[in-house]
Amino acid sequence: MIHKTRLFTPGPTPLLPAAQFAMAAADMHHRTPEFRALYQKVLAQLKVFVGTQNDVLLLASSGTGAMEASVSNLTSPGDQVLVLTAGKFGERWVELAKAFGCAAEVVKAPYGETFDLAAVRKALKPEHRVLYMQATETSTGVRHDVEGIAKLLKEAGSEALLVVDGITGLGTTHFDVDGWEIDVLIGGSQKAVMIPPGLAYLSVSEKAWAAMEGAKNPRFYFDLRKERKNAVKGESAYTPAVALIAGLGAALDYIAGQAGGDLEKGRIALIDNAQVNAAATRAGLVALGFTLFAPTAPAAAATAVAMPEGMNSGEVVKALKARFALVTANGQGEMQGKIFRVAHLGFFDYLDTVAFLGAMEHIAKDTLGLPVEYGQAVAAAQKVFAEAVKL
Ligand SMILES: *Cc1c(COP(=O)(O)O)cnc(C)c1O
Repeated sequence: MIHKTRLFTPGPTPLLPAAQFAMAAADMHHRTPEFRALYQKVLAQLKVFVGTQNDVLLLASSGTGAMEASVSNLTSPGDQVLVLTAGKFGERWVELAKAFGCAAEVVKAPYGETFDLAAVRKALKPEHRVLYMQATETSTGVRHDVEGIAKLLKEAGSEALLVVDGITGLGTTHFDVDGWEIDVLIGGSQKAVMIPPGLAYLSVSEKAWAAMEGAKNPRFYFDLRKERKNAVKGESAYTPAVALIAGLGAALDYIAGQAGGDLEKGRIALIDNAQVNAAATRAGLVALGFTLFAPTAPAAAATAVAMPEGMNSGEVVKALKARFALVTANGQGEMQGKIFRVAHLGFFDYLDTVAFLGAMEHIAKDTLGLPVEYGQAVAAAQKVFAEAVKL
């Protein structure tokens, strides 16, 4: 049998062919009018994709580079910050805050759950300069209530900047960046925008720019003020990731093309696509007898699946790869062996979901020995799809 490789990992995600062609053709120097035009076009498209009037900057780094920039550019050693953590990526904020000498107060939610807003409200102090959180915690498949946290900050009269890691939230979750007053919202190229790893992007509010004036932590490569100055001229401070930027432009064109050329509508369609595929996947897996790891606040970015007692998630990941060349993600850190994760963000369509669930029926039956009726998971997903997507 032929086995097509299919990535179902929550980063990197499947590549858009049009973006691959654009990357292959991006043979240009970056200090030229051609590149400046491309860069300015992509930065303008990114503002629409993020959904903000704020500046959006691009960095040649993985997503963590923009996370680091959001600490180094906004804080001074000794600053008090509040970090919300419910998984591996939340823990990364804690490590970053510590690396830059901040005193991080931490509000934790158990893996698989989101935060209790009352607990966040209780922990919030007037001294907190920044609140760091994820929109979706990719390691556990949980969606956090960014709007709820944003409201809570306003109602408390807090001066804290709201910094959101939306690396898997963008393109899978609706944000009102300016309405909710999200000061920094971070994205990464290998997630919903369908291109390889290597670019991070972030929106930066006027309040965040003002805070940078007084922030004393060291920064050099990730100096956001330097990037902003250069971006106005269509340039980046250092050699940009030219090919990735060309690919990103093609991907954003494709997303706009899904809605008749309107990128804002295309963004909404992309989010709805992830949400329907996530809901269909959840229904299919539950119909097969699996337990969802994050049932109360599931993210549309990726679904985390708990294993039946005594079974190791690594076996599912391995069997999907061996039998169908279908690549899913095991749990990270202490979740390894306990859960596996399947992504819906970016270039996935409904038929990909059907394929995944069809494969899962075989694995559940043959690898895990569950009582499976073929078609059981697929039928549950089809019902969700038929209900969500009317003719
Ligand atoms: C993928 C991801 C990151 C970024 O990781 P990099 O490996 O640096 O790209 C950060 N936060 C979340 C929630 C992610 O899913």
